[in-house]
Parts: sequence; structure tokens; C-alpha cells
Amino acid sequence: MTTNTKRGKYPEHFLPGAEKLGRDEMRITALGTGRPFLRRSQANACWLIELGNGDKFMFDFGFGSQMNFTALEIPYNAITAYFATHLHTDHVGDFGQIWVGSWAGGRLKPLEVYGPSADKPEYGFAHFAKHQKESYRWDTESRVHALPAIGAEVNCHEFDYSKVHVIYEQNGVKITSFPAIHIMDGPVSLKLEWNGLSMVYSGDTTPSEFMIENAQGVDVLIHETFNTVDQLMERSGYDERTAKAIGTIIHSDPAEAAYVVSKCDPKLFVAFHFFNDFDTAPEMYAAIRENYGGRVALATDFMVINVTKDEIVTRDAIVSEHAWPNKSEHDDFGKAERKSRPNMPEWIREKQVFPKF
Ligand SMILES: [Zn+2]
Ligand SMILES: [Zn+2]
Repeated sequence: MTTNTKRGKYPEHFLPGAEKLGRDEMRITALGTGRPFLRRSQANACWLIELGNGDKFMFDFGFGSQMNFTALEIPYNAITAYFATHLHTDHVGDFGQIWVGSWAGGRLKPLEVYGPSADKPEYGFAHFAKHQKESYRWDTESRVHALPAIGAEVNCHEFDYSKVHVIYEQNGVKITSFPAIHIMDGPVSLKLEWNGLSMVYSGDTTPSEFMIENAQGVDVLIHETFNTVDQLMERSGYDERTAKAIGTIIHSDPAEAAYVVSKCDPKLFVAFHFFNDFDTAPEMYAAIRENYGGRVALATDFMVINVTKDEIVTRDAIVSEHAWPNKSEHDDFGKAERKSRPNMPEWIREKQVFPKF
């Protein structure tokens, strides 16, 4: 029997930079597993998927998640592409960081970012990205003389939210989008397949047939699982009506998520999008067990999942609070083209003590 705590050939904990990913292996790291408001132990939704072919994808980039990414000491330049499941801030709030933070941190290529359309253009990802860029115009124009100009560029790929279709296919990697059911038109779930391995990430969804149809037999199913209605009432202070609306109509409660997951029958069910504490986990686990008897992991930030054809191992990463962005791919940073320096008016410049122009 496979247990959650079996380490196989892996060290007890994952240490950034200390383990080479096997050529046939997939590694998934939780960079944000909490709810829409930030707390120190759990950032907003974000999952890093690294593949043995060198590709690295980020699924969602909610608030706070990029602080966790920095702690993994992976060069920003090494991220192949970012994907958003929907436009709630707890899934895309760190857009400014994946764009400007990664640029200042060493990205030497345009940002490649994918996100879904909606029933109206103004609810789609292209509209969101365009206006994010526009709102940070002072920021980017004040940096393009000091930082490589190419890092300011964004290649925004908006895809149809309403279809089950392949939205990315390169280097043996296939990423499929399918609709999620979450309040309004637009949200999607994502499936990544590579080298005979597969994972599905739900984004936010209430229990749905789309999931049952598209996540059959995957290796890892990361499915949103909200705190129980009782926990939402007691710990978050919601009245019963609000708690039920949030916990069961907008999201999946633990028993509901477990029902859907049992129909999909993955090798590992990863439950996320709830406040995971010593005093919430037992009730979450019990509710999941009402409908699902398979292997389950209750996600925390910095949970690491190694996936091969033979086994799936879950561990935690030990990271530094003081990690700097990895600079190993910075070789061409100094040589890359800059734009000219913006002008400051004379009345400000003449007050500058150092340096004198
Ligand atoms: Zn949402
Ligand atoms: Zn969410």
C-alpha cells in the first residue's frame, strides 16, 4: 500500500537547488493554497509545475505567491509560461510581480501569459492584462532605461473559456483548458500532460461534470476544497446563508469535492483553497472520507509532489526567509538593450546632491 509519508528515494525534505529533477519526472510545488485573504502561512492560489524536459509552468499567481516562488531560488528567466484560471484577485493578484518583479529579478524575454476569455470582452484575460499594464505605465517607463527593455514586454494569449481544447502544445507538453463552474462565465480548469504523466488543476469550481469528464485517471488532481460550512461560520464569522453560498455554491465543500474526485479516480487527490490548521484539518479529512477512500493530501504552502510512472511522493520544502532571486541566468542581463533615460525637470535635478550631471 502506498502511504502519504513514504519518501522512496527522496530526501526527507525538499531543499531548493539541492535536487536535480529526473528526466522523466514531474515536480509540483504549492506556492499558494489558502483563501482570498492572505495570511503568513498560506498565500493565494499558485502551483509551480516543473518537468524533466526543463519546462516550468505556473498555474495561477494569486497575491503573495511570488514571495514563495523567490524562496525556491529558481531563476525568473527559467519560467516557460504562466497560466491563469480566472480573474479573481486570489488567482491573478500577483500579475505585477510575475511581470515587473520577474523583470527586475532577471527575466530576459517577454512574459508569456495565458488566460481565459469570457462572455464579454471586458471580462476576458486580454482586457485584464492590458489594463494592468496601463495602470503600471509610470512604473515600467521609469525602469526601461535601467533594466533590459525586453522584460517589459508581455505576450498575452487569451483562449476560449467555453471549449474543451488544447491551449498550449510545445516540447511534448500539452495543456488543455475546460470550463469550470464558478459564479460567472470565464473560469476554467487546466490539464497538463507530458511524458505519460498528467495533472489537473481545478482553479475554482463548484462540483462539475466537466471535471469528471476531463480528469479521469490523472496522476494528480488538485481540486479546490473550501473550509466546511461550520468552519466558515465559527472561524470566519459568516452567517449560515453566506457560509453556504461561499462554501457550497461558489466553491466545493470537502464532501462535494471528494465526490467529484472519487468519480475521477486520480492516483493522488490534493485538496487546497482552505485554511489548513491542526484544528481544521481533522474535520476536512473526515468530510472528504465520506465520499473518497483514495489517497489524499491536504495542501500547505511549500508542499512538494514528485510524480513518476512508478510513484508519487509528497514532502515539504525547507526554504530561507531571506532568499534572493536566483541570478544564475543573469549572464546577458548587463548587455541587453535599454531604452533612453526619462527626463527629469531642471528644478528637481538641480536639487540632486549626488551624482552631479
Ligand atoms: Zn474564484
Ligand atoms: Zn479562489
